[in-house]
Amino acid sequence: MPIYKDQQIRLFNSLTGKKETFQPIEDGYVGMYVCGPTVYSNVHLGNVRTFMSFDMIFRYLRHLGYKVRYVRNITDAGHLENDADVGEDKITKKARLEQIEPMEVVQRYTVDFHNILNIFNFLPPSIEPTATGHIIEQIELISTIIENGFAYEINGSVYFDVHKFDETNEYGKLSKRKLDDLIHNTRELDGQSDKKNPQDFALWKKAEPEHIMRWPSPWSDGFPGWHLECTAMSTKYLGEQFDIHGGGMDLKFPHHECEIAQNEAAKGKSPVNYWMHANMLELNGQRMSKSTGNTVNPDELLSGNNKFFSKAYAPSVIRFFIAQSSYRSVLDLTDDGLLASEKGFYRLMEGLNILDNIKASEKSTLDINAWKQKCYDAMNDDFNSPILIAHLFEAVKYINQIKEGLASVNEEDLLTLKQTIHIFIFDVLGLENTTKTESGTDKLTGAVDILIKLRQDARANKDFALSDKIRDELADVGIQLKDGKDGTTFSSS
Ligand SMILES: [Zn+2]
Repeated sequence: MPIYKDQQIRLFNSLTGKKETFQPIEDGYVGMYVCGPTVYSNVHLGNVRTFMSFDMIFRYLRHLGYKVRYVRNITDAGHLENDADVGEDKITKKARLEQIEPMEVVQRYTVDFHNILNIFNFLPPSIEPTATGHIIEQIELISTIIENGFAYEINGSVYFDVHKFDETNEYGKLSKRKLDDLIHNTRELDGQSDKKNPQDFALWKKAEPEHIMRWPSPWSDGFPGWHLECTAMSTKYLGEQFDIHGGGMDLKFPHHECEIAQNEAAKGKSPVNYWMHANMLELNGQRMSKSTGNTVNPDELLSGNNKFFSKAYAPSVIRFFIAQSSYRSVLDLTDDGLLASEKGFYRLMEGLNILDNIKASEKSTLDINAWKQKCYDAMNDDFNSPILIAHLFEAVKYINQIKEGLASVNEEDLLTLKQTIHIFIFDVLGLENTTKTESGTDKLTGAVDILIKLRQDARANKDFALSDKIRDELADVGIQLKDGKDGTTFSSS
């Protein structure tokens, strides 16, 4: 019998603002769509967090025995720089700046995206469709929306008529916005648009002569609006109504709101039963942003080659750090936070190694089955990974008690303990046991910390010759000391 028969998930539905019992449309099957990246630059760490949350959800659903079709798209056309449907296509702009073909931009950053996700041990989605591969489906969808009276064509472009839609449907139900308030708050962009109303959004844009990415359509040579691709691809692969639609919090409006409107306008039904949104990732208490310089790329974080962090962190440590907070909370990425997660992660790995050598006893003094159910309860409660991790640390405590002879488990409980801990650490959280390579690093950290301490003593005694010697000789073997206001840290190359 599949595990999901015994484990009932409750998840937070952004549409209703409540935790709801998860009931897939078809028993045993789950359709899940997550908005993928726009491939015009290296993947953002905030996006990595979002995709990691849904990777964990995908992993847990699979573990429970659901047959999951997980669709995550690649946006390789049509995403304009401005949500008001003006500005250049992000990919075209990058291609122009670098003097290469738009599809070279797409290829380069799709490869980068997959590389980073592989480093973080992501499972591939079941289908990874591209916007450019589904132009025909998008044109058909536009035709249907026009036929149903919810879109209009002007000068070769087609716009969704939000006001008309709102007469019979409810625009803004996901993001809890009212059209009246939107009208009040929309900035008019004089002369930049043919739209009847500023709230309307593009389904098809006529291409300017210099625009390279273009396709023929009944209205003009042009390209689809960004919101459209997700409606076309999600319903193509998951059906007109499906179970879960996920994405970053920043996509709730207008992107997901527009997806709902398009689907209701074309098919007469709301596409998604459970909308899930992963929250933002901040860096040192502030929004990550290229323009303020408060940003770090995934590979800079992994290599330690950045100005924010004292050292390089292993991919599983970063994954563990992210899992230590609920996907619905804002997560603040800090050096202290990563250092603490690193300690915790290796404590967990050490527990696993001890567990390998533990022998069963006649009798159990621990209730392993109750502990196991607590792990499931945590994940069943809206995928509460921080609570799950607290239970995993509880297991490390058990393991140490057993090792010290303060507790015991019988054969069956020992097997349950081993299996459950492996399931949650590796299959569900997607961590990898990196003790072997990293224990070397840990010893190195210990040794360098001793030298840093000796150097501090030398400086306190005004023995600068010795303190410089320690610094220089460490540099010779590739270890750089960095003096900061919070003490000395090091990086190794
Ligand atoms: Zn999308």
